Amino acid sequence: MDATQPTAKTRQVRCPHCGTFTVYSTSNPWRPFCSERCKSIDFGAWAAESYRVQAKPELADFDEIDTLDQQPARDNKPH
Ligand SMILES: [Zn+2]
Repeated sequence: MDATQPTAKTRQVRCPHCGTFTVYSTSNPWRPFCSERCKSIDFGAWAAESYRVQAKPELADFDEIDTLDQQPARDNKPH
């Protein structure tokens, strides 16, 4: 063993959200993000995105989604 071990170096990665270089180590609980804010923002966006996809699998017609708000519920007939 000598002093050439690469593990001593601090590894830096780019924050996936804002692109800022941040330390990628156990000292950074938000890794690979630079901060809690970036992590929660990115995760929030991801969660919202996947929720939307799950809720509405066929998002072919964005126009229809828009008009859903204006029209009365046309899907309220009982089974
Ligand atoms: Zn960031």
